Amino acid sequence: MITRRHALKSAAVMAAAFASSPIRTLAQSTEGAHKLPPLGYAYDALEPFFDAKTMEIHHTKHHQAYVTKLNEALRDHPDLQKLSVEELLKDLDKVPESIRGAVRNHGGGHYNHTLFWQCLKKDARPLNPDGNLIKAFGELFTSEDDAKEQFVKTAMGVFGSGWIWFAVDKEKSLKLVTTANQDSPLSKGMTPLFGLDLWEHAYYLKYQNKRADYVQAFAALINWEFIEARYDKIVA
Ligand code: MN
Repeated sequence: MITRRHALKSAAVMAAAFASSPIRTLAQSTEGAHKLPPLGYAYDALEPFFDAKTMEIHHTKHHQAYVTKLNEALRDHPDLQKLSVEELLKDLDKVPESIRGAVRNHGGGHYNHTLFWQCLKKDARPLNPDGNLIKAFGELFTSEDDAKEQFVKTAMGVFGSGWIWFAVDKEKSLKLVTTANQDSPLSKGMTPLFGLDLWEHAYYLKYQNKRADYVQAFAALINWEFIEARYDKIVA
């Protein structure tokens, strides 16, 4: 039987518990080797192409969850905590089997989104007509329209969740590739240059089932300044 005294005592214990440990637990859940990087711009900066609500949920919930779960996976592996997410993904074989799947998925999710945010910008300058990247595109596509058409077609060919990428292989040649889930081109011996998130969480609020419209909207948000500088560094 619960007496009033017991009830009061329980309430006091509960209050004490809420005053200390849950707050500490909450703080601990955001600690770890890996952190959610800031987006670098406002959530509504890419309107009307990518809407503010999607950007906010995508960054604060989806990307945050990849970071949190990566840190959880690495909790008992202080040696691996010292490695960057790039180092982990480039050589998943050195990650113990018990956490390899988690590092592949959540490390991949963290890395892919970190790069993705940087590749987006509204009113970005066009591709430099004298740059190295436009020459590399010229070896893959016959025209700008051809590039767009192949990009959309390839993106539409990804069944389920994944990414479409321009990535640079070991011979420093530019490729249009796709990956499933949160797999990163880094784990396939390539360096991703820029990519587009094809998970429904990236577009469903605004575009629902119309993935093609979302993929086409991306053309208006490509941060060529960032991507061309990245390309020059990768192939240097
Ligand atoms: Mn995403």
